[in-house]
Amino acid sequence: MTQLQSFGVIGLAVMGENIALNVERNGFPIAVYNRSREKTDAFMANRATGRNVKAAFELKDFVAALERPRRILVMVQAGKPVDAVIQQLKPLLDEGDIIIDGGNSWFEDTERRTQELEPTGLRYIGMGVSGGEEGALNGPSLMPGGTESSYQFLSPIFNKIAAQVDDGPCVTYIGPGGSGHYVKMVHNGIEYGDMQLIAEAYDLLKNAAGLDHNQLHQVFSEWNTTDELNSFLIEITANIFPYIDPETKQPLVELIVDAAGQKGTGRWTVQTALELGVAVPTIIAAVNSRIISSIRDERIAASKQLTGPSGKVSGDINAFIGKVRDALYCSKICSYAQGMALLNTASQTYNWNLTLSELARIWKGGCIIRAGFLNKIKNAFNENPTLPNLLLAPEFKQTILDRQNAWREVIMTAAQLGIPVPAFSASLDYFDSYRRERLPQNLTQAQRDYFGAHTYKRIDKEGTFHTEWVPITEAK
Ligand code: NAP
Repeated sequence: MTQLQSFGVIGLAVMGENIALNVERNGFPIAVYNRSREKTDAFMANRATGRNVKAAFELKDFVAALERPRRILVMVQAGKPVDAVIQQLKPLLDEGDIIIDGGNSWFEDTERRTQELEPTGLRYIGMGVSGGEEGALNGPSLMPGGTESSYQFLSPIFNKIAAQVDDGPCVTYIGPGGSGHYVKMVHNGIEYGDMQLIAEAYDLLKNAAGLDHNQLHQVFSEWNTTDELNSFLIEITANIFPYIDPETKQPLVELIVDAAGQKGTGRWTVQTALELGVAVPTIIAAVNSRIISSIRDERIAASKQLTGPSGKVSGDINAFIGKVRDALYCSKICSYAQGMALLNTASQTYNWNLTLSELARIWKGGCIIRAGFLNKIKNAFNENPTLPNLLLAPEFKQTILDRQNAWREVIMTAAQLGIPVPAFSASLDYFDSYRRERLPQNLTQAQRDYFGAHTYKRIDKEGTFHTEWVPITEAK
């Protein structure tokens, strides 16, 4: 009798190929399939050599190569391709088989697919996978959502292939339906925020403090040794600065076009936050910054006409560097506070019962936002699972109270020198708005009532009121 494989992977592009090798390396024989034959041939001829991998060129042969109940990871382009693969697979599968969508699918698509498949007896898991190519191969952070019993059946494999950190593998049962993909989407939104905040720190250090690429390397390397900023993104930033382009002998980063791309998960995070009524200004600033960066020709033309201040900071440069570090850290806390608040509201809205401390824990390794700082977030939500906002956790509260003067000074300096810091500023505005007992929206309410009779409430008595602010007369 031919041996059946434990796990199947459909889609052998960057992510599928690497995660397939990760599963096999951890002791689970795999079967693979890709729509076009060339990728499978290349995989079998190179990286799969000597490994326990069966290649199939027809989906029916792929399905037949798997032990039951089958565990099939679909790692194809998000959107219609996922539906196409499911439609082709469906007639070939048996009751109890599990399809896992490991791509960056829109969470409502995952909800829909779950509702379509589960009544037919098939099981469906929507799983966020973070960590890019390297994570997929050596240990990603996995965010699986769906029916808990299906997750339990998969967990022996997930626990082994996930990144391993001091408090366990970077995987946990996220919740039902599309919750895994939702959490992955917010993870990506937070990643946008982190990247923008680091870009602003770089801009200030380079253009306000005048640091060259070697000094930038030193500063970011030093920040990466600190308890608060130690992270994958700070580490790779430190590594980027000293990389010299072999052709021009210039730092490569300075030769790269300043127009950032995006694939959509940051925009999705903003869209769902607006729909759920959760303020995520830092993440919005990050998405806006990529958008404005992409109209490069227009910016270059505008730069010839729209003048503003310029210059460098004077005085103690090391003190300024320290203040930028403080501003970066305070802004980062605000950005995560927004992301976690969004997850909290989504959890309540969709009845997902998310455990925020667990989400912080599984992001500690394997993923792009992995950082020592996540341990503090995990502890904050462990100590108080109903914490309304991360800013109120004792450790973060004290950090911001201690450093807010530096943060404000950096933003004032940026404004004086004409250096845009949209995410630093959005974070400070978030902090200042959140901590204000009274905001000026009493005036907004008065205006709404004035022009639209939208009514208002009063602070001194119960009820709903409308005022005729000026007598309305009909035009003749
Ligand atoms: P990708 O470029 O998003 O997708 C390419 C794969 O999709 C190929 O195997 C392709 O097959 C297959 N495909 C496309 N349309 C298809 C269809 N109609 N039917 C069947 N297969 C189809 O690949 P990726 O970068 O490895 O990403 C896979 C998923 O993981 C995506 O959802 C992505 O967003 C997510 N993700 C990517 C990263 C990353 O760093 N790249 C990180 C996390 C998550 P052919 O070879 O036949 O064209």
